[in-house]
Amino acid sequence: MTFQAVMLEQQERQTLARLTSLSSSDLPDEEVLVAIDYSTLNYKDALAITGQAPVVRRFPLIPGIDCAGQVLESRHADFQQGDRVLLNGWGVGEQHWGGLAQQARLKGDWLIHQPEGLTSRQAMILGTAGYTAMLCVMALERHGITPAAGPVLVTGAAGGVGSVAVALLARLGYQVVASTGRPEEADFLTQLGATQIIDRAELSTAGKPLAKERWAAAIDSVGSHTLANVCASLQYRGVVAACGLAQGMDLPASVAPFILRGITLAGVDSVYCPVAERKIAWQRLSELLDESIYTQLLLEEVSLAQSLERAPALLAGQIRGRLLVDVN
Ligand code: NDP
Repeated sequence: MTFQAVMLEQQERQTLARLTSLSSSDLPDEEVLVAIDYSTLNYKDALAITGQAPVVRRFPLIPGIDCAGQVLESRHADFQQGDRVLLNGWGVGEQHWGGLAQQARLKGDWLIHQPEGLTSRQAMILGTAGYTAMLCVMALERHGITPAAGPVLVTGAAGGVGSVAVALLARLGYQVVASTGRPEEADFLTQLGATQIIDRAELSTAGKPLAKERWAAAIDSVGSHTLANVCASLQYRGVVAACGLAQGMDLPASVAPFILRGITLAGVDSVYCPVAERKIAWQRLSELLDESIYTQLLLEEVSLAQSLERAPALLAGQIRGRLLVDVN
């Protein structure tokens, strides 16, 4: 039985992406064989497919940092045939063959069971972007932020992480300020629960070490000057959960808001996040979001072949919300 997969190869330092046909015996010898229902196109997948950043550590490689599906075969004690499972990160889609395929062979320790009430389709509408947004919310909570603390800013709000973060914070009762470079997405963000929209240009160039105190907390997927300005604009003892670099990997900030306002910069990594925490994150996602939110978050459902065509648009910041990949 053959199945379809996206395959990345490298020739003369150029990444070549194509659709290919494989059989299960071509897959690496890992413990759990999964029949994938859905995957998704994340920022990192788009970098891998286009070769725009060196996220792929070995070629040839099937990209796809996440997937959801059903166990076909298992040599791992925690998983049996028929179990519905979920994968995010662990270097899959970077150094291990990943989720943009109809099948994957994965280590059992990388998998979690899908929480009750969440379908493969819903899980992958959220994808790693949505799961990371939940980890960011949990980081704010860990540092004592509650809805009573004051407004919470979300940068890159119309993107994958940002849009799910807006929805989650609003459902938890926070007053959400959405920063976006796309004013045409104001209705989308308001429907997700943002109460104020600001132009990302306010934050995207070099600012003062300390600015007016505006937000109790923030979720930032943008980095660079934006994150520096967010730090400078947090209220006394404010917290920012930083997870991304859509504007840049640099952080041209000063220590002023740390030592004069006691702010906290909390880093969030989804790839090697401990299993116990990812289970909590997925459980909470399944409880907090309903079908109307999934409908709003989903921009487009694409095939494996179309995921290759859409990758450049995602990197260009043209995708609103999430891109679901129906691998079948
Ligand atoms: P998207 O492309 O969906 O969203 C990124 C958003 O950032 C865009 O929609 C845009 O929002 C904003 N943006 C893009 N370019 C710029 C720019 N030059 N200046 C300011 N804002 C910009 O990506 P994701 O949401 O999926 O991922 C966002 C970031 O988070 C990426 O860097 C990704 O690598 C990172 N990430 C990190 C994870 C982790 O484990 N730490 C996990 C998942 C993602 P708008 O149009 O609203 O302004």
